[in-house]
Amino acid sequence: MRAYGCRVCGSALYFENSVCVSCGTNLGYSREEDAIVPVDEEGRYVDAGGFIWHVCCNLNLSGCTWLARLEGGACFSCDLTRVRPSDADLAGIAKYPIAERAKRQLIVELDGLGFPVIGKDAVNGGDPVKGLCFDLLSSTEEPVVIGHADGVITIDLAEGDDAHRERLRDELDEPYRTMLGHFRHEVGHYYQWQLVRDPDTVARCRELFGDETADYQAAIDAHYGQGAPAGWEQSYLTTYATMHPHEDFAETWAHYLHICDTVETAAQYGLTSVAGVAAFSQFRDLVTGVWVPLSTALNMINRSMGNGDLYPFVIPEPVLAKLDFIASLRP
Ligand SMILES: [Zn+2]
Ligand SMILES: [Zn+2]
Ligand SMILES: [Zn+2]
Repeated sequence: MRAYGCRVCGSALYFENSVCVSCGTNLGYSREEDAIVPVDEEGRYVDAGGFIWHVCCNLNLSGCTWLARLEGGACFSCDLTRVRPSDADLAGIAKYPIAERAKRQLIVELDGLGFPVIGKDAVNGGDPVKGLCFDLLSSTEEPVVIGHADGVITIDLAEGDDAHRERLRDELDEPYRTMLGHFRHEVGHYYQWQLVRDPDTVARCRELFGDETADYQAAIDAHYGQGAPAGWEQSYLTTYATMHPHEDFAETWAHYLHICDTVETAAQYGLTSVAGVAAFSQFRDLVTGVWVPLSTALNMINRSMGNGDLYPFVIPEPVLAKLDFIASLRP
């Protein structure tokens, strides 16, 4: 994340701030400027071109701080949500802001890396076929399977409940499970669908991740029946990645986003002198030269506070090649 500052008093701001705690100025996030900007009493911001922006209509519902084009309308990020919990679903509504917050962080990172974020709503300039949208459902109301299909990402809002998510993490023997991680993984399926299309790219992807046409249900049955193959650590980041080539791609994609975002944050706050992810022509050089020492230090810092490791993973050599491939998909 970038280190955002208040344009009125210069104080440091968290990305989620809707008010500057130092000077009391009301704030909104401008995606066009990638900046947190002051808004007036009516929640308006006038940009350099004279266009009037309005605070998103979901500010009070989901804590959305982004600016919308229309008065009383939703922002770009909220517009990507196709289904949200009903007002009567109190458990879902309580966790809804956690999912929307993770989605906004995801979009900012994708914007920064240059990956196109296009919705499905043609009225808003989206593409009904190739676009992206989100169904934020609540498994307290109905069974929900987190996943991606044809540009629709389904998220279970129950994952916003710490006790629920931690119980699943423990049951599935995962070292890491977060709402943001779910968004990063699922959007990886979307970008594989969108960006790995021409025959050369498909062939290279298959070489690295395996044959993605392999039967998915059989892969699920094998994974949950027998577990990950012995020695999986030599070629994969996680046991889940061993299940199917699509899952390996999505897991590796999620780590690509974890690494890019965390290195950028470290650079913004002076923890590394790296100019940015783009300073390396090979992503693997960033991983071995910057990410491994940085994440080791961050793990030690977390341990100093009695917390678990920030990055509880080891990256084997074959994963460096997979990460390089994913980095090469950047437009
Ligand atoms: Zn301020
Ligand atoms: Zn919004
Ligand atoms: Zn997946």
